[in-house]
Amino acid sequence: MTKTFRIGLDLGGTAIKGGVLLDNESVHEASCESPKDYQECLGALENLAQSLAINAGASSVDICTLGLAAPGAVNQSDGVVTDSPNLQFLDNQPLREDLANRLSWPVTLENDASAAALGEANFGAGKNHPSFLLVTLGTGIGGGVVLNHKLWSGSGGLAGEFGHMRANHDRPCNCGSLGCVEAGLSSPQLLKWAQDEGSSATSLPALSKAAEEGDSLAISIFQRAGAYFGEALAQVALILDLRVFLLGGGGAPILPHLKEAALQSIADRTLGRIPSDFVLEQATCGNRAGWLGAALCAD
Ligand SMILES: [Zn+2]
Repeated sequence: MTKTFRIGLDLGGTAIKGGVLLDNESVHEASCESPKDYQECLGALENLAQSLAINAGASSVDICTLGLAAPGAVNQSDGVVTDSPNLQFLDNQPLREDLANRLSWPVTLENDASAAALGEANFGAGKNHPSFLLVTLGTGIGGGVVLNHKLWSGSGGLAGEFGHMRANHDRPCNCGSLGCVEAGLSSPQLLKWAQDEGSSATSLPALSKAAEEGDSLAISIFQRAGAYFGEALAQVALILDLRVFLLGGGGAPILPHLKEAALQSIADRTLGRIPSDFVLEQATCGNRAGWLGAALCAD
């Protein structure tokens, strides 16, 4: 009997993570290093996809489909990443078409944080919540919106770009705008903020540890960052009346330091709501969320 192998790839700044779903069960996973240019990128994606299919047991009579999660603004009708601030070699390349030609499989392209939101909705912390926003905190900040159990990509793939919403500062962002959430709260920016105020922490986990040990500067930075984070989440809550916010990505473990200030800040700006009206919790799929969601997007 012909089987359908849905392969998901998550193209990130340091690694490409991938896996295979068969009847919505993960049957194989693998990863490789991130490429440095576009041609290398196509080769790496092709090789990883093919080795995943082979190692999952796909034969020549089986059907393989691929979902690719990529960072940046995705134009789904053209299958192109139009603006990837943190992986600029992708910009305006015919990514979906080039990959489909190499593999001879149907290829679907999705924004990486949107894919991660779909992964969390089906396999992780989103399973118990019909509607939520996932925010991914790492080198950049992404977001994905799930409404009534379905991914909302918007008119063409731009939905959920939480990292480029306006925050209450004027620092320049890699996207070219001023004052984006990402320019203040991404992992490197948060660390820089702390260092500018005199912290000796050299990584976000170190800043987190300092806060746990009672360092007043680290605690203060996280409280203020939490308030900014909550202000931005409140804008989302006001438009969509979402009550559930999940934090994923490598920076997610700092959530306990941000949570109280963020919840208070959301409530302060949402017309009589109180902090306990909202759920703010860590995502649970870790770095598997992107490929899981990408595979679910595969035709
Ligand atoms: Zn921006």
